[in-house]
Amino acid sequence: MKCIFCDIINRDLPAEVLYEDEQVISFLDIRPMNYGHALIVPKMHVENFLSLPEDQMGRVFIIAQKIACALRDALGFDGFNITINNGKAAGQTVFHLPIHIIPRYSHDTFQYKIDFKKYRNNELEEIGNSIRKCI
Ligand code: AMP
Ligand code: ZN
Repeated sequence: MKCIFCDIINRDLPAEVLYEDEQVISFLDIRPMNYGHALIVPKMHVENFLSLPEDQMGRVFIIAQKIACALRDALGFDGFNITINNGKAAGQTVFHLPIHIIPRYSHDTFQYKIDFKKYRNNELEEIGNSIRKCI
């Protein structure tokens, strides 16, 4: 199975690598939403957030925080977004989990177009109940 991120991990494809250890690699996104947009990727091929084993979860997020600190110090951003796209419907394009860290500036051009919903009657409680049953 062809996987761009496995190729980067195996050095079969070039990337601007920021950090790596035994479990995690971080490199710059080739199509940044803002300069310095970084990806944190577990070296194990896992498709998305749900398939990341629990014992890898901590390490991946510790490195995400380390990279976010480095981006702050290097770029002096005003804020940042941490994003994980899970599934095509959510915009996932590479099916080897990346965590995105996207530097943000007070007047940047990045925008979410959000159509906020409103809970009616007892929908809030019903939806809460159906989710709680699955935890
Ligand atoms: P996602 O869409 O959440 O699956 O994230 C995949 C990200 O990988 C996208 O933002 C792409 O721009 C980025 N990407 C794709 N190919 C490469 C590559 N060869 N090197 C670095 N980033 C890449
Ligand atoms: Zn992979």
